Amino acid sequence: MAEFTMELSDEQKEVRDWLHGFAADVIRPAAAEWDEREETPWPVIQEAAKVGIYSLDFYAQQYFDPTGLGIPMAMEELFWGDAGIALSIVGTGLAAVGVLANGTEEQIGTWIPQMYGDASDVKVAAFCSSEPDAGSDVASMRTRAVYDEAKDEWVLNGTKTWATNGGIANVHVVVAVVDPELGSKGHASFIVPPNTPGLSQGQKFKKHGIRASHTAEVVLDNVRVPGSCLLGGKEKLDARLARAREKAKQGGERVKNAAMATFEASRPAVGAMAVGTARAAYEVALEYAQTREQFGRPIIDNQGVAFQLADMRTSIDAARLLVWRASWMAINGKPFTAAEGSMSKLFASETAKKVTAQAVQILGGNGYTREYPVERMHRDSAIYTIFEGTSEIQRLVIARTLAGMPIR
Ligand SMILES: Cc1cc2nc3c(=O)[nH]c(=O)nc-3n(C[C@H](O)[C@H](O)[C@H](O)COP(=O)(O)OP(=O)(O)OC[C@H]3O[C@@H](n4cnc5c(N)ncnc54)[C@H](O)[C@@H]3O)c2cc1C
Repeated sequence: MAEFTMELSDEQKEVRDWLHGFAADVIRPAAAEWDEREETPWPVIQEAAKVGIYSLDFYAQQYFDPTGLGIPMAMEELFWGDAGIALSIVGTGLAAVGVLANGTEEQIGTWIPQMYGDASDVKVAAFCSSEPDAGSDVASMRTRAVYDEAKDEWVLNGTKTWATNGGIANVHVVVAVVDPELGSKGHASFIVPPNTPGLSQGQKFKKHGIRASHTAEVVLDNVRVPGSCLLGGKEKLDARLARAREKAKQGGERVKNAAMATFEASRPAVGAMAVGTARAAYEVALEYAQTREQFGRPIIDNQGVAFQLADMRTSIDAARLLVWRASWMAINGKPFTAAEGSMSKLFASETAKKVTAQAVQILGGNGYTREYPVERMHRDSAIYTIFEGTSEIQRLVIARTLAGMPIR
């Protein structure tokens, strides 16, 4: 293991600065326009593809950074640029990770390239788990996948909601129930290939923030996919279901949920997005406070304003440190004995909401208008305490982990 250091390597600084340049030159200038249009910013995704930011290779490189800081640094910089556009760029990664985590080598090789397309013809992917009646309570999912043995096909029926890129994706990854008796352990993930009949986009949501990111319902009406689209394959699924049935017989509800480690490892990335938005708003507020004069002096000369900035910066740095700790733990396979991944997401997301509200306050009337970006950043920040598990669910996970209780 490397000696403890808080210093980034030259290579990490280089990648961070390169991403920051893209965020400053390409993402930030486009932010207000795509927020107003409430449409997927295809030209910006294409630019990201051209320079190599929108690709599996880029994420794989960041993911395998042995310090664990590659992904959080990338997220912080891109979301510093703009949250809605950055989510449009990294949203495909959610679906790609679903395939990487559960798919066979063949599935990874076949589907992930189709999720991204290429710089001349970019594509996006969607990860569809949430349903109208199954948000925080994933176990109450109703979308069914039934195996048609004669044709070696799975038949999917149900309605997914809140899917980032839902309906406009080239490839959809859909989580569905294969054994309703087993709760969340009876779920499996399926690839729905491009242009599969029966999959359609339902309502596209008009949102409070991250409006450049497309969010929609996905309707599955007798969607038939080949047996090869079950992630991980049938043999693995059957073995997993048999184990879950056996555990259920022995009181398996007290067995620790395997999904937890995955969430603990992925939640810091959302925390890093929140740090990016918070830092962006803080920087605007700091500059404004130094230049805006009232009563014959810059407003930062008032302790009431300066202390707010001090608190904002302190919280942002604390959030980043929690995110980096959890990311370091994830890559080094450390056990999350205090749900440190959830902690980082909880603190960073609440920080982003608070800091962006403070930034609006520091900019006064200007902060409340769309002439300045903090109004948008404040709207955008509200998503971080909702998706990838709400703040209440993070607290529930942390509390149950501390108490040694099972996490469902
Ligand atoms: C913009 C956006 C993008 C999204 N992208 C995706 C995506 O790509 N794929 C996907 O599958 N999903 C996605 N989601 C869904 C997201 O993960 C869910 O919205 C989230 O999990 C919360 O579920 P819910 O909205 O049904 O809220 P609910 O679960 O109904 O919660 C409502 C409120 O009740 C609280 N609550 C619920 N249970 C408890 C409890 N036990 N204790 C205390 N409080 C509780 C919650 O914290 C919340 O405040 C997205 C959502 C949004 C808004």
